[in-house]
Amino acid sequence: MTHRFVFLLALAAAVASPVSGQELVLVNAKVVDVDAGSVRPEATVTVRDGHIVSIEAGSGPALAGATVIDLRGMYLAPGLIDAHVHVGSTEQARRALESGVTTVRSAGVSHYVDVGMRELQRRGALDLPEMRATGYHVRPDPAPGLFLDHPDLAPFMAGGIRGPEAIRAMAEAMLNRGVDFLKVNATERAGVPTTDPRKQLYSEAELRVLVETGAARGIGVMAHAHGDAGARAAVAAGVRSIEHGTYLSPRTLAMMAERGTFLVPTIAIVRDLTIPGGDYDNALLAIRGRHMLPRVREMARNAHQAGVRIVAATDTGYGPESTTTLAHELIELVDVGLSPAEALRAATTTAAELLGVEDHTGRIRPGLDADLIVLERDPLAAIDAVQDVLMVISDGRVVVRRGDWPEDRPVS
Ligand SMILES: [Zn+2]
Repeated sequence: MTHRFVFLLALAAAVASPVSGQELVLVNAKVVDVDAGSVRPEATVTVRDGHIVSIEAGSGPALAGATVIDLRGMYLAPGLIDAHVHVGSTEQARRALESGVTTVRSAGVSHYVDVGMRELQRRGALDLPEMRATGYHVRPDPAPGLFLDHPDLAPFMAGGIRGPEAIRAMAEAMLNRGVDFLKVNATERAGVPTTDPRKQLYSEAELRVLVETGAARGIGVMAHAHGDAGARAAVAAGVRSIEHGTYLSPRTLAMMAERGTFLVPTIAIVRDLTIPGGDYDNALLAIRGRHMLPRVREMARNAHQAGVRIVAATDTGYGPESTTTLAHELIELVDVGLSPAEALRAATTTAAELLGVEDHTGRIRPGLDADLIVLERDPLAAIDAVQDVLMVISDGRVVVRRGDWPEDRPVS
């Protein structure tokens, strides 16, 4: 069932019965319009059955039984979208939600836990971010779990996922498990000390096989790439996004701008390589991080100037030791030249377009999912305001509430 259909049903139910216990009314809200890059000064946002039904100036009438939350002039922004995460458990996904991230795209995890979490969230069984699933990385040496989930791929165990036949077989196997994206490693990884992240792993012809196998079922490819040659092959093959892109040349960036390929630069996690603790804590990776960090920042600056569509992401697992949040990435994006409004779009509207969820989330608009965050300060004036999320509303449910809030007023 599509979200839109559910919404129509919700409207029909509301017409049939004027009393809805599901109604949430947010009054005294400063509503952040990320498209316009402006704030509506004093508004009432009404949410019913998980969807935004209206945004009105002043304080509108609430239905009997509605819950009214007084935001006392605080800022209401769209829930954030993290376009590249590695959450391997519901606890990790829940931590993403608590940071203000109401939608994520999984960028590779074992045993299809991303597909499982997506389905539990869809059914309303758990408060988790909405999930776009990816399954395993397509790479010459796939994670060992792949063959446990897909013993049919056993003929490719010895030789790895190399050449058109193996790539097509692995992609088909994952598409049959219901992934929303295919993830490929076009170059080696950066977060492992023994690998060379500039090294190309697949030819353009191989990447094209993957893109075409996905496209036949309407599924796009996200390509991990640090080195320029591997990234350019991926862009030429027609991938939807380049993840990281540390060493991308101006020539490849120009090609991305022309073709509409998204860039997900994940700058903040590269910083994590350089500092103790966090997702990475390794002496060799710290050395690597110190030379990668200035390069990825320079590349992101060039990409923005070239008109490449930039999307925010953490590349974190949201584990108990993780110190990187999406807010840190937005601060990095502003540091490389995006305006606060552009950085917010990178984590809302542009990200929604990359993920293919713009029909139901990413903005504060009637008809869309009520995925919302409350901030004390104006993120358009200073982006670091997004570090301090005081309330998270996901599909109309208040899942996080920090600080002192007055009693909600039930309407009678
Ligand atoms: Zn990743």
